[in-house]
Amino acid sequence: MSYLPNENRYQQMEYRRCGKSGILLPALSLGLWHNFGDIDTLSNAQSILRLAFDNGITHFDLANNYGPPPGAAESNFGKIFKTDFLPYRDELIISTKAGWKMWEGPYGDYGSKKYLVASLDQSLKRMGLDYVDIFYHHRPDPNTPLEETMAALHLMVQQGKALYVGISSYPPETTQKAVDILAKMGTHCLIHQPKYSMLDRWVEDGLLQTLEQNGVGCIAFSPLAQGLLTNKYLNGIPENSRAASHRGNGAIEENAITPELIKKINALNNVAQQRNQSLAQMALAWILKDPRITSVIVGISKPEQLTDSLMALKHYSFSNEELKQIEAILAE
Ligand code: NDP
Repeated sequence: MSYLPNENRYQQMEYRRCGKSGILLPALSLGLWHNFGDIDTLSNAQSILRLAFDNGITHFDLANNYGPPPGAAESNFGKIFKTDFLPYRDELIISTKAGWKMWEGPYGDYGSKKYLVASLDQSLKRMGLDYVDIFYHHRPDPNTPLEETMAALHLMVQQGKALYVGISSYPPETTQKAVDILAKMGTHCLIHQPKYSMLDRWVEDGLLQTLEQNGVGCIAFSPLAQGLLTNKYLNGIPENSRAASHRGNGAIEENAITPELIKKINALNNVAQQRNQSLAQMALAWILKDPRITSVIVGISKPEQLTDSLMALKHYSFSNEELKQIEAILAE
């Protein structure tokens, strides 16, 4: 059956301006790091993408190495894009990245112009796109001059292969340098993509301030700490979880889930229940309470999770008492 999106899709979503730019992003975006590889079911991936768009999620976040195997998420997305989303290309913000190891030899990793330019060409082919909306350098490269990496991003914009560019996981000082180098060439750094959740708050130590000062948007990845901040692990590690599935490529592993962590998650879950939210909803709301956050990128393994997480948008303010309770639990 051909796909007809929900006509009311723009009525329920909140859109936030991405720094000082013309782009608005949905408060929730969908990430394809896991659950879209060749070990996953294409029909499930399709249901998730459709449900997302039906709810006003206009932003899909990919990278060259998402899978497994690397490249598979882009290829699978390309298949679904062709059948379902081609007529809606201009309603979508599609991003990809390069910066982690993608192919053998000295030109398939880190931040050289050689790697980034070739990788974007490969990504466009896999996805069946003429251009991406956002291209990111995926992680800082300590050995390549920042000028070269930023020149590669600027070139992509000049060539029309990426409309906007961003950086991911850059610390505050390198972010400032990257933003300045790009600005000198005439390209604005649209967005930064850092890891941010209740369990990983490094962005609060200077990065958010740097981004705000420079008019750069912020889109948080792994906002649920890969599923830890949900009802999944309240009683240990269930079989149908990312932690139990040994997916590799940075996915959370069983030994990271200690008894102390489970205790903390249960305490947070109690606060969520007082707020009439699931823990996932509260964890997303807790990030979205900060207006400097443009969007949070969620990973989804089944459509019901997205339905649950979308409800975070209904209630993302916190009383001082709730914030204090959360701080006390996180400090334990
Ligand atoms: P999350 O922290 O949102 O974790 C997603 C996992 O949480 C799901 O796979 C699922 O686990 C579980 N989950 C999600 N919603 C619910 C719910 N409502 N109830 C119960 N469980 C739920 O994000 P990810 O770690 O997947 O990262 C999100 C995106 O961020 C990626 O897809 C990618 O686009 C981006 N990213 C970027 C990186 C970068 O370096 N720039 C690095 C990592 C991610 P389960 O699978 O066990 O069911």
